[in-house]
Amino acid sequence: MKCKMCGGKAEIRLRAYRIQLCKNCFRVFYERRVEDDMKKYRIVRNGERICVALSGGKDSIALIHVLNKLKDKFKISIEALHLDLGIGAYSSKAESICREVCQKLDIKLNVVRLSDYGFRIEDVDVKKVCSVCGNAKRYLMNRFTRENGFDALATGHNADDILTNFFKNWIAGNMEWIDKQRPRTEGFDKIVTRIRPLFLRTDQENSLYVESINLPALGIKCPYAVVDKWRRIIDDIEKEIPGFKQNFVRNMFKERKKDQKKIKHCSICGEVSNVETCQFCRNVMRFGKGKIKH
Ligand code: SF4
Ligand code: ZN
Repeated sequence: MKCKMCGGKAEIRLRAYRIQLCKNCFRVFYERRVEDDMKKYRIVRNGERICVALSGGKDSIALIHVLNKLKDKFKISIEALHLDLGIGAYSSKAESICREVCQKLDIKLNVVRLSDYGFRIEDVDVKKVCSVCGNAKRYLMNRFTRENGFDALATGHNADDILTNFFKNWIAGNMEWIDKQRPRTEGFDKIVTRIRPLFLRTDQENSLYVESINLPALGIKCPYAVVDKWRRIIDDIEKEIPGFKQNFVRNMFKERKKDQKKIKHCSICGEVSNVETCQFCRNVMRFGKGKIKH
């Protein structure tokens, strides 16, 4: 198995792209993809100061590393924000990984502690701990980003996250949600601009990228994390249809043409057709013996 880019020994097989790469070329491949998406979807603007949400998990580590690499090209500056949610040993481990990564990359790390606002996640005694935690995260990240004068908040949401949320919201009939998950959503009132530079990268790509850059990432799961059946379903579809995740997410955010296409008609039979001669008339001419009925 040879690497498609350098011809060396390939270690990584990406079914969605039908290519095999060595670790080193994968890193380059990944960074190019992120760069292309950032340009195509105008995810950042020149001169922006970006606050990068850093949890210590693989997605956020991949995000901060790739943004740090691309920052000069896009003329942006970055700082990291880690939230200490107060989840015992899990939180301590997460914070130490963030410190190590920021030190290695020479990025300023800001830490906000939920306990400074009066509670910790481990004190929350409701069934749905994650919804309290999710709310606290959104609140604290937004407030910190705004109060510290950043232009945007970057999060490590990937294609798997966006797709999982899509299905959940679709079933709940909440279609407005899609607009909130775009690669860049502009801020309004006290809500800051949000950017998601990894929106087309998959779980697998982010894991491979973190491996290829030799940075640590949080290997343990939060004790409150639940198994999400949607992720399993999406993974099963991806196995059957490689590239499904990215194609789906890309199409979700495709700019829809506002005005309807001009209606055209077939020059032979007059039925609606988007080409000069409709497919049916072409088939009649090709396979039929009789005349076309007008
Ligand atoms: Fe918070 Fe843990 Fe739930 Fe994630 S899994 S939302 S960190 S409580
Ligand atoms: Zn290679």
